[in-house]
Amino acid sequence: MGWNSLDDMDLAGKRVLVRVDINVPVEAGKVTDDTRIRRIAPTVADIRAKGGKPVLLAHFGRPKGKVVAEMSLQPLVPALEAAFGASVAFCADCRGPAAEAAVAALQDGDVLLLENTRFHAGEEKNDAALAAEMAKLGDIYCNDAFSAAHRAHASTEALAQQLPACAGRLMQAELTALEAALGQPQRPVTAVVGGAKVSTKLELLGNLVEKVDTLVIGGGMANTFLAAQGIDVGKSLCEHDMAPTAKEILAKAAAQGCAILLPSDVVVAREFKANAANETVAADACPADAMILDAGPATVAAVSDALAGSKTLIWNGPMGAFEIAPFDAATNAAALQAAALTKSGSLVSVAGGGDTVAALNQAGAADSFTYISTAGGAFLEWMEGKTLPGVAALEQ
Ligand code: ADP
Ligand code: MG
Repeated sequence: MGWNSLDDMDLAGKRVLVRVDINVPVEAGKVTDDTRIRRIAPTVADIRAKGGKPVLLAHFGRPKGKVVAEMSLQPLVPALEAAFGASVAFCADCRGPAAEAAVAALQDGDVLLLENTRFHAGEEKNDAALAAEMAKLGDIYCNDAFSAAHRAHASTEALAQQLPACAGRLMQAELTALEAALGQPQRPVTAVVGGAKVSTKLELLGNLVEKVDTLVIGGGMANTFLAAQGIDVGKSLCEHDMAPTAKEILAKAAAQGCAILLPSDVVVAREFKANAANETVAADACPADAMILDAGPATVAAVSDALAGSKTLIWNGPMGAFEIAPFDAATNAAALQAAALTKSGSLVSVAGGGDTVAALNQAGAADSFTYISTAGGAFLEWMEGKTLPGVAALEQ
């Protein structure tokens, strides 16, 4: 691949500027979910083991180019120390004399956290002058923030141009998984796209029909496709104004030889709440006063067949209203089937998206997937076929 990893760099005695995403939830000065911090720990450990000095660059919140005390990274220091098993020094600026002095004081094995990059207006402007000031603080640049790579900011893009650059372990894992899923995948490839609305996932659907062999459309957005084909979906969540777009996507899929799998049966209810009275009907038989909240068993069987015949799965968006039982049934069944096929070695499975990750966790399937991306917007943009500036900068 066109980028270097930590294995390609000589880190001994070097100051390594590491761009991380530690934009974690904090309440009353305490980190309430340290997932993002734990995920960068291998990169920090690796740099230290190779004799390098990690200097962490990160954003936090949206201070819009001004110093906002509540958006300081300093309260994260104890959580970083716990995750790294090392003491972490802090400097109240990510550039300038104070930062230069803090870096100069680093001993072998020390870790330094620099203050929120977004306290400087140049960060979000991808300002080369700000990046040059940051570049003075390191010998090597390592980007471990895939989840921030869809933004061309000084610490994700311009800085990568000014120092020898490489991907950190988390970035490397993410890029490797995404490449295996959509870049040069083992075929056949099946994509499952669900969720609430077509309008938020138009570019995604447009890109996937060009790249995958089978596209399963589920969740609320399937209703829009059914309605576009003249089917009455009753009171279901449905974007009727998107009918022409849905038809275009179907036509594009047909032209590209991408099979589309829409629900053939659906689970309908009169109320959107847990354990609402429900029935399973054919996809074209939703009662006028009911709404479609999940795919039915015949649809699940068809999805299972598609997965069993696939070598690669890419998944974004739940197949139904998974937050309320029993309308999580199709999502759970497909998730467990994908997990079992992955465990048996016949399927490479990659999934991402906030609700998707929650749904796969709820199904007890997430741990068996090949890769679960927690990158949110960057994952979606990558699936949409867009070039991510933070990744492109590593490739030069
Ligand atoms: P992600 O965050 O993984 O990208 P989305 O936000 O696009 O996923 O979609 C998740 C939402 O879609 C969930 O809140 C789920 O309840 C909703 N949803 C899925 N199917 C339906 C449906 N048939 N009717 C209403 N909402 C649905
Ligand atoms: Mg969501």
